[in-house]
Amino acid sequence: MARARVIAAGETNVGMKRSHNEDNFLINEELNLYVVADGMGGHNGGEYASAICVNTVEEIVENMELGDAVPVEEDDPVDLVREKLRYALRLSGRRIYEKAAESPEFHGMGTTAVALLIDAGNAFVAHVGDSRLYLVREDTVQQVTEDHSFVARQVKAGALTEEQAKSHRMRNVIYRSLGYQEDVEVDVQVLALRKGDRFLLCSDGLSGHLEEFEIFDHLKNHAPQEASRRMIDLACERGGDDNITVVVALVDEVP
Ligand code: CA
Repeated sequence: MARARVIAAGETNVGMKRSHNEDNFLINEELNLYVVADGMGGHNGGEYASAICVNTVEEIVENMELGDAVPVEEDDPVDLVREKLRYALRLSGRRIYEKAAESPEFHGMGTTAVALLIDAGNAFVAHVGDSRLYLVREDTVQQVTEDHSFVARQVKAGALTEEQAKSHRMRNVIYRSLGYQEDVEVDVQVLALRKGDRFLLCSDGLSGHLEEFEIFDHLKNHAPQEASRRMIDLACERGGDDNITVVVALVDEVP
């Protein structure tokens, strides 16, 4: 099947408060693969973990034969791509875990991640932790990923409002990430693409400073590169508490 045409851009910024940037991102136009990873851990553990993640996801998506190491019931191409992407994130978690176990300086490192793989007429969205994917479609904006965080759980249970969650002292506590355990559950969703869809992948350094309607406005009114730059500038203006990473992908043509 023909491939979707995607116009993408991304940028990362250390922000205003941190001394170094532990985020990493990937734009691979050949594969139509986009990843944002937000690392954590002392010394250089954070950036090392997020780099292992983006490199591993790219390596697996590029090189692994469908169905190779992925047990799937049938030869359904959608199933195969979904399980391959899930496997890529799980393997990156295992590699980070193993590296951390080997070297004391990397002990306790980990990363959150969100990955978007566009294949034929579908968008495959995988994530662990609180890195997010938003979809702007026609006149709506939707947060597609659900944070694996303490406050997201509380909001879902009705114990906190969205507003309270934003300033909650435990807003940075996540219960799932790559590298802290040998294996981790990865959420993968499949969406049917529509021409004109705009995706934003971002670390919490961005989503913590921008409202959903602002994300909508930027993605709707600017080309991916310009939207990325403006959103990063805005997050910095508002304090830039954390590293800020964005990738914007615009679906220009659907097969
Ligand atoms: Ca972060």
